[in-house]
Amino acid sequence: MADRMLQFVRVAQKTPAKRDVDERRFDFDEIYRSFDDSGAGVQASRCSQCGVPFCSIHCPLSNNIPDWLKLTAEGRLEEAYEVSSATNTFPEICGRICPQDRLCEGNCVIEKGFESVTIGAVERYITDTAFERGWVKAGKPRSENGRSVGIIGAGPAGLAAADLLRRWGYEVHVYDRYDRVGGLMIYGIPNFKLEKDIVLRRWRLLEEAGINFHLGVDVGPGLPFGELRARHDSVLVATGVYQAREIGGVGSGLPGIVPALTYLTASNRIGLGDAVADFASGRLNAAGKRVVVIGGGDTAMDCVRTAVRQGASSVQCLYRRDKANMPGSMREVKNAEEEGVEFVWLTAPEAFLGDNTVSAVRAVKMRLGMADASGRQSVEPADGSHFNLPADLAIKALGFEPEDLPTAFGEAALQVNARGTLAVNRRSFMTSLPGVFAAGDIVRGASLVVWAIRDGRDAAAQMHAHMQAATTKMAAE
Ligand SMILES: Cc1cc2nc3c(=O)[nH]c(=O)nc-3n(C[C@H](O)[C@H](O)[C@H](O)COP(=O)(O)OP(=O)(O)OC[C@H]3O[C@@H](n4cnc5c(N)ncnc54)[C@H](O)[C@@H]3O)c2cc1C
Ligand code: SF4
Repeated sequence: MADRMLQFVRVAQKTPAKRDVDERRFDFDEIYRSFDDSGAGVQASRCSQCGVPFCSIHCPLSNNIPDWLKLTAEGRLEEAYEVSSATNTFPEICGRICPQDRLCEGNCVIEKGFESVTIGAVERYITDTAFERGWVKAGKPRSENGRSVGIIGAGPAGLAAADLLRRWGYEVHVYDRYDRVGGLMIYGIPNFKLEKDIVLRRWRLLEEAGINFHLGVDVGPGLPFGELRARHDSVLVATGVYQAREIGGVGSGLPGIVPALTYLTASNRIGLGDAVADFASGRLNAAGKRVVVIGGGDTAMDCVRTAVRQGASSVQCLYRRDKANMPGSMREVKNAEEEGVEFVWLTAPEAFLGDNTVSAVRAVKMRLGMADASGRQSVEPADGSHFNLPADLAIKALGFEPEDLPTAFGEAALQVNARGTLAVNRRSFMTSLPGVFAAGDIVRGASLVVWAIRDGRDAAAQMHAHMQAATTKMAAE
């Protein structure tokens, strides 16, 4: 092993090439290229194979990272794929969009002094190679077990659960109000971070495994929740969080002010070849416009970078704190800066100006104050610091809250907690309704794809145990 591994003292960190900014800002293709065969092996060989792998501990899926890095360094790629896919339903997706600097790579032991192993890029390479070489197979069960589950939501949480439950022999039905599978992976996250073919090929594979997708079905108004419950032995709610946080104030209802997800969904649909009337009319198209995006998270970063690619004449991002306090991934902030986005730090919107449509955002400078109990510094407006930022399109990207599911589902007994997310038993993932489980953002609040996958897998295991116990009990009676 010593020959192959521990190369970090000799070999420098090298990430896959990032496409040149003058090229990438004019298209929606992914910005990072893939490793070539030798590049992945050489970078994997930098792993120090430490006894306590902090990378695995800080990966939400507890991936066996040192094992698949070693197998990659040794050229044993098919085995690397087996190990990597044993704990992760979508390794090629996590390899692309996990904020690795906060998770696995940020906790790599050689980070101090040598820069981390490029874990995400190797993970992506292993599974992309597995797809190319035909190693990725549909997860068909050996036999059917005669029980059926209903899953509401075809995002990463719902799909991760569906995949496992199908492998274990359940008849799996996934219901989604969208017309495509993937949740935010298909309509939220832009192509330049995650190309849609990557999501679509997973959809095909899940169908091949025998999972039944019922698309365009809005559970609640379109299909009563009680009816869905009656159809299945167990139900998983994996509906994500979709209610956008609002900005009030003078002029906030003016045309030209749009919610981030409406804007991103239109852009993703255009990329998928759909006709979008509001894009054709210009309402959701930034071309030639002065764009102001309000917010500092990953959704705001996706909006500013989409606006650049649509040909905006200028793109500004307004954030009320400073760069150090931004919630978004620093990697994405850097990419946005390279692509020409101007960040207006310590600035908050107060009003929107314009007659028939927005023409400017009235903003005020902010000062950082004392840290609160969570350690986050408070912000307060600086007197007399108002100014106007000209804008033809203002995009609100202030985060998401859960919808009111007890009302939407007509189930007053479905308990939610103070934030409106579904209350579940932490161990069993069961909600207050017997046989109804929940996972992903609808439990956790807006989070990450990798956490949704983890929760979906864990919830599936608990549903399996619950249904097996019910079968055993029935047999005993
Ligand atoms: C713009 C944006 C960018 C992001 N970028 C990243 C990133 O780079 N990396 C990362 O890790 N995470 C990112 N995230 C977060 C990540 O996408 C989510 O945490 C993750 O998708 C949550 O998975 P989920 O399965 O819980 O929900 P979702 O992906 O939201 O899926 C929920 C599904 O449920 C369906 N649904 C909802 N209600 C109903 C109903 N009543 N009936 C039927 N179907 C219903 C929805 O249509 C949707 O398909 C981003 C989020 C956004 C908004
Ligand atoms: S799933 Fe995410 S956190 Fe885990 S190893 Fe892969 S990139 Fe890192």
